[in-house]
Amino acid sequence: MSDPHTVTTPLEAKSPFELRVNLGKDVPETDVRSALATGDMGFLHSFTTGATVDGPGVRVVAWTTGCNWRCLYCHNPDTWTMTNGLPVSVGRAADELRKYQQGLKIMGGGFTLSGGEPLMQHRFAAKLFAAAKEMKIHTALDTNGYYGDTLSDAELELIDLVLLDIKAWNPQRHKHLTGTDNAPTLAFARRLAARRRPVWLRFVLVPGVSDDFDDIAHIAAFAAKLGNVERADVLPFHQMGKYKWKQLAIPYSLAETDPPDQSVVERAIGVFRSAGVKAF
Ligand code: SF4
Repeated sequence: MSDPHTVTTPLEAKSPFELRVNLGKDVPETDVRSALATGDMGFLHSFTTGATVDGPGVRVVAWTTGCNWRCLYCHNPDTWTMTNGLPVSVGRAADELRKYQQGLKIMGGGFTLSGGEPLMQHRFAAKLFAAAKEMKIHTALDTNGYYGDTLSDAELELIDLVLLDIKAWNPQRHKHLTGTDNAPTLAFARRLAARRRPVWLRFVLVPGVSDDFDDIAHIAAFAAKLGNVERADVLPFHQMGKYKWKQLAIPYSLAETDPPDQSVVERAIGVFRSAGVKAF
């Protein structure tokens, strides 16, 4: 395999909504397996800069590829397939981050690893977080939590903030929405609480799919009990990723679904606040 340092495709993208496919398709299967095992190389959709919603301050975000979930509302289905991403050595990814080291310090921002599901590449994630901490950069992991147990307790300490997506409380609803069980996510949430690691909970509000207020109340009560959830963000469903489903020819069941009314978003925020969780 060629040295990933020599790959010339730019890592930086204007936004994660840029459609990227097949960037790693020529990487042999054995190299993919060894990359996953060692974390010396990872697969990234892109780096983006300037985000203000993926953690405190201004964030540099690395978007990984690879996700084993199939959320009905996913706005980046091109990140499901790991080899759609660019093969990047951990050194190259760290070099990219180093470019922003001073700026992030001045602006009080940090680095967020998002995806896809970053913990599909947990060795790479751990190495990249270690590199960021060496640069004294604030770190955040945006995850569905399914693979939380792939990180050791020591590795959790490299992550200053976990942005944990809880997509539904009712197991059947969760399965319908994501294709998977939510028990591992809830177990990870409890482990983070036991270790007092800061969490921002993220909940995507989708009309007709995740807007059951009894379900939301269960999530809010769970979050309140954990004691380490600093805030909950209610994220209204949007259609910015719709074109990706079309271009990738993946059947999209939410093609006709509108974003929720502001009043419904506010009601969901109110459910979290009533449970004692700061919510936005
Ligand atoms: S977990 Fe995230 S990346 Fe994976 S399918 Fe769901 S929304 Fe998409």
